[in-house]
Amino acid sequence: MRSVYGPIDSWRLKRSLGVDLISQKGRVCTFDCVYCQIKRCQAVTSKRQKFVDMDDLREEFDDALEIVGDHTDYITFSGMGEPTLAVNLEEGIKMVNELSNKPTAILTNSSLMNEKGVRNALKGLDYVIASLDAGDQETLEKVNRPDKDILFKDIIDGLKKFSDNFQGRFALEMMLIEDNYPRISDIAALSREMRVDEIQLNTPLRPSVVPPLEEEKLQKAKKHFKGVETKIVYQEKRTDTPKLDEEEVIRRGRQR
Ligand code: SF4
Repeated sequence: MRSVYGPIDSWRLKRSLGVDLISQKGRVCTFDCVYCQIKRCQAVTSKRQKFVDMDDLREEFDDALEIVGDHTDYITFSGMGEPTLAVNLEEGIKMVNELSNKPTAILTNSSLMNEKGVRNALKGLDYVIASLDAGDQETLEKVNRPDKDILFKDIIDGLKKFSDNFQGRFALEMMLIEDNYPRISDIAALSREMRVDEIQLNTPLRPSVVPPLEEEKLQKAKKHFKGVETKIVYQEKRTDTPKLDEEEVIRRGRQR
């Protein structure tokens, strides 16, 4: 299985070349979200591990840059689960920054943000897109179904610590569905306690067992974030970029 895939036409990262430091056959994640678009779950865990060999990744990344480097706007850490579970994430970010001058990003579910090693690794990126789908522990358990060691209060502490010190662009993303839409004001209140550059309102438009909310509801949700740049998944344009391997993109399934 390849660890470099895409570029994906992303609603917020334009042409995004993916680097997957998990690269397992099923998803390995700290969460088991009800709306997850990666069907096969391999493990729900909060134990950071090494999944991908850095020398192999270097070679693969270098080759990919030669083929699709000119069609890439962002290098994005994402893939078959939660990228901060990879214990060599910091090393991976350094390697990508050495080999490429493209801006770098990550899609993280924020669950390990309270770990210092994770916050240090993320400092090397230009753009951090961190999810927050819940305003309390109960909604977290209902929507994200976290590993038993993940607590809502720790996620919020971690997000505050990180956003206060991060020099790059920090976006908070919400995947809105019927279960968390009624709690949007709680999530908005928490977002005002952080240094947030951008809000991204998402809903599952790709195949998922949970139906998406219609655009009108996302527009209503946007009103809770006055004064902060807010993007809505329905409104952003995508391009049609040639891929390294279409299969590898479909496998990851995730809505960028
Ligand atoms: S949606 Fe993302 S955070 Fe949630 S289970 Fe799937 S990979 Fe993990």
